[in-house]
Amino acid sequence: MDPMSTINATNATLKSAAEALQEEKRLLQQRQRQRQQNPLSLSQVTADLIYDTLYLTFWNHILFIMPAAIGQMIWVLPTPLPGEAPTIFEFVWHQIAALFVFDFQYYVWHLTHHKIRFLYRHIHAVHHRYNSPFVWVTQYLHPWELVVVGFLTTTNTWFFNSHPLTVWSYMMVSILVSVEAHIGFDFPFLLHNLDPTGTIGGSPKHDMHHQKPLTNFQPFFNHFDKLFGSYCPAMSAGGKKSKALQDYERKVKDCKKNL
Ligand SMILES: [Zn+2]
Ligand SMILES: [Zn+2]
Repeated sequence: MDPMSTINATNATLKSAAEALQEEKRLLQQRQRQRQQNPLSLSQVTADLIYDTLYLTFWNHILFIMPAAIGQMIWVLPTPLPGEAPTIFEFVWHQIAALFVFDFQYYVWHLTHHKIRFLYRHIHAVHHRYNSPFVWVTQYLHPWELVVVGFLTTTNTWFFNSHPLTVWSYMMVSILVSVEAHIGFDFPFLLHNLDPTGTIGGSPKHDMHHQKPLTNFQPFFNHFDKLFGSYCPAMSAGGKKSKALQDYERKVKDCKKNL
């Protein structure tokens, strides 16, 4: 290739890179304008978004969940069923305790995957593609995150030597609370609204994590986030900033100013 055509080819590549950058910048500005004019417009769930999340969820199930389930059927020893069912008390407390164990384990995993740039960029960022979650975002996960979450959920009840009925029920409950954290709604009958102690985080808290990813690392509860200063109050229904959130943002702003 003669030097002139090499220069021309380089120029063309640089030009298309510059155009791509311009386009990226234009889209970013458009998104910022949209956010200022109508914050809710970015949280609308469209058919494209649903297709995208279902696509990954489908392949995650085919490639990872199904082989794990078949593997378990083949290799795990048969579960002997005890003659008696667990007492209601044991059935309930084992599941609540297992939820607290999962909450702690995932809190540590989650924090690590936000603080270490490499882990965030290559693994957890997949889940953060959506800053306004809806149910199908629950399992919009990198396969490694899916495997970790599946492993933890499967083994949580082993700590308590739980009855098989409790184990199976816990699997359902833990999926349910994870889906609930991503529903993007704040219904008055949800558990966090009925909890006078403020221990349960619920969907508004996790919604806020998707908007401010360096806050609210605990998936279900609040105690570690409150203890270690990563708790961010939730947005009120309708996308309005709650008084607690306004105070929090003012405090963060002041802190940054004083740095
Ligand atoms: Zn999430
Ligand atoms: Zn996260």
